[in-house]
Amino acid sequence: MLWRDFLGNEGVKAQLRGLIDGDRLPHALLIEGPRGSGRRSLARLIAAAAVCQGEGERPCGVCPACHKSLAGIHPDIRTLGEDDGRSFKIEVVRDLRDEAYVKPNEAPRRVLILAGADAMTVPAQNAVLKILEEPPAALLFILTCENRAELLPTVRSRTLTLTLRGVEESVGLPYLKARLPGREEEDLRAALTLYDGCLGRALEALAGENLTRIAGLAEQIALAAAAPTEWELLTAMAPLDQKDKTLTDDVLAALTLIFRDALAASQGAPVKSPAADRLARALPPARLAALVETVDGLRSARRRNINQTLLLTLACARLRAAAGRE
Ligand SMILES: [Zn+2]
Repeated sequence: MLWRDFLGNEGVKAQLRGLIDGDRLPHALLIEGPRGSGRRSLARLIAAAAVCQGEGERPCGVCPACHKSLAGIHPDIRTLGEDDGRSFKIEVVRDLRDEAYVKPNEAPRRVLILAGADAMTVPAQNAVLKILEEPPAALLFILTCENRAELLPTVRSRTLTLTLRGVEESVGLPYLKARLPGREEEDLRAALTLYDGCLGRALEALAGENLTRIAGLAEQIALAAAAPTEWELLTAMAPLDQKDKTLTDDVLAALTLIFRDALAASQGAPVKSPAADRLARALPPARLAALVETVDGLRSARRRNINQTLLLTLACARLRAAAGRE
């Protein structure tokens, strides 16, 4: 992957390319963005640029260092942690401490990528902080996370944050069409909307054939939150009462979109779905804003490993409270 293959996020790319061209990359970067927004790909791209021996644009894609880094076998680039940000093993911190002080093999600097940094416990973050406070001279440290608010302020303040967002439909749709030639354009559009232009998640969902189910469940839950009694919401949420955490995550993502669309529609923006339209007419904007915030809170509780039963209980109570239906 080279710069031209990383879609969207033009501001972030321009900033990074300026830093790379001027040899001004800081010791530590924090890539923040939703799942599927390209955090890992961007980290790899920066790592490749940091070890590239080519002239001009880096990574050049053709030098021996680029061949290794783009194949994922460069000895000076090491990745630790998990992208999903749900589990963080304590061994990772030990590996991190060992890896941070290894001298580069062949490149001018060593690159350490720590994925899912927001799933770290406070002691783990303190271990990372030690490395950030006294960074080894030849180390580029790249952390990725979904939400930097989960990181200690002392960790955040020692990194340069780059925030990734999903891509516009005008960029995402041609990409998905090229990747999935036989798929209906309507499906591709739905996946882009559901995952807010995060191509990784859209591809994942399109591969899983699960999109219609997710959208349907989210729509029922969204409408049930504003229903007069608790019964409607309990019924709508019943299919989530299982071990399937991915389904719950997907439905929460879809709920955010519906509530956001309803809020925008209540302020005059074009309506994007029948559910958003009904909500916009049923609830005042302040309630819709509270629903958006509630779902954000639930998603952040999920990232802190809250258990499924408690999450669903909280979801039921908080959604109704936010809709003013207690
Ligand atoms: Zn190169």
